[in-house]
Amino acid sequence: MLALRWYGDKDVRVEEVPAPTLTEPTDVIVRVTGTTVCGSDLHLYHKEIMQLQKGEILGHEFMGIADEVGSEVKSIKQGDRVVASFQIACGTCQFCKEGLTSMCDRTNSSALQEKLYGKPFAGLFGYSHFAGGFAGGQAEFVRVPFGSVNLLKIPDHVPNEKALYLSDIVPTSYHATVCADVEKGKSVAIWGLGPVGMLACKWSKLAGAKRVIAIDQIPERLALAQDIGCDTIDFSKQKDVVGEIYKLEPLGVDCCIDAAAFRYTKTLRQSAERLIGLETDSSEIPNETLRAVRKFGTVAVVADYAAMTNHFLIGALMEKGITYRGCGQAPVQKYWHQLLEKIESGEFDPTVVLTHRFAIEEFSELYKAFDEKKHGIMKTYVQT
Ligand code: NAD
Ligand code: ZN
Ligand code: ZN
Repeated sequence: MLALRWYGDKDVRVEEVPAPTLTEPTDVIVRVTGTTVCGSDLHLYHKEIMQLQKGEILGHEFMGIADEVGSEVKSIKQGDRVVASFQIACGTCQFCKEGLTSMCDRTNSSALQEKLYGKPFAGLFGYSHFAGGFAGGQAEFVRVPFGSVNLLKIPDHVPNEKALYLSDIVPTSYHATVCADVEKGKSVAIWGLGPVGMLACKWSKLAGAKRVIAIDQIPERLALAQDIGCDTIDFSKQKDVVGEIYKLEPLGVDCCIDAAAFRYTKTLRQSAERLIGLETDSSEIPNETLRAVRKFGTVAVVADYAAMTNHFLIGALMEKGITYRGCGQAPVQKYWHQLLEKIESGEFDPTVVLTHRFAIEEFSELYKAFDEKKHGIMKTYVQT
């Protein structure tokens, strides 16, 4: 089968590899019909995530047809049209029982994560040995462990393009607004208008936020946020983002969401690998959110940060009584039934972020284009 494999910094290639087989009775082999690239993949593309190995198959957002079904999988049958959650949950550990599937205790035994975080989070498809070492879905076939837990059956009348993003960005963006305490009548500021931030803008408007301030520098993304009804700040033109936010909301914003892809430095990654001297550059975004948020407001961090950042403005956190909440990897299974209903009813259309289509053979060009954000590229649909 064809699959997208990682070889090094900005080096990904489509190659012929052996197709996966059932290894556990709880597995399902999915014949992938649609997949895509995520901002999270760019952290791999730039070699910012630890424990990546040459030849790993990437991809954590995919859908397809159940091709082979293990004997213990009850909820999925051969031939079912399914979408996968990007994280791999066992369904039976304490965290899974609590609905925190992205915190599953059984699917990731990375010793590095244990050392860094005390306890690893769940395994992820196509996301290095830091996240369990599972082969990803940017491929023609993929093995889905615990198929009953990690696959959602899609009704016939929901088109592929509307179903695919249930694997990650639809639940992730929704989860970000839940973590940021977004509610009717509140003001919201969102850093980063990639697919995650843009859909968080949509969810915030749908929740009845009185104002949504969207921050980025890419003209097409700022324009789309305006179409959605947001106020926008172009951080390449307005250096004082926080000052601009206070002009719009003199008391500060109630809810801040960090959905920007912070580019790690090599120093961070290498020092994290050594587990010593975890110094890094100061990221302006966490401190901007801490300064812009209203006293006793909430900041939610949905962007991926893999290790440590110094110069964190803990004074603002304490003195302003801020709730600073990590979203974790979004627990997809907790939300995907209710969000599928909103897609079915037409209340929420995730394809607002779909800009380009590709074929599997074009994957390396797609990574390059998505990384460089050329031609207004945002979310893609890759036919396999
Ligand atoms: P993306 O790369 O398409 O978008 C990131 C956006 O941030 C870009 O438009 C970029 O211009 C903007 N940006 C960069 N610096 C900025 C700054 N200083 N201020 C404001 N905006 C800035 O990525 P995406 O697919 O939307 O993903 C966004 C982030 O969410 C990534 O870090 C990704 O890893 C993370 N993510 C997390 C989860 C989760 O479950 N927690 C799931 C998916 C993605
Ligand atoms: Zn993703
Ligand atoms: Zn579990």
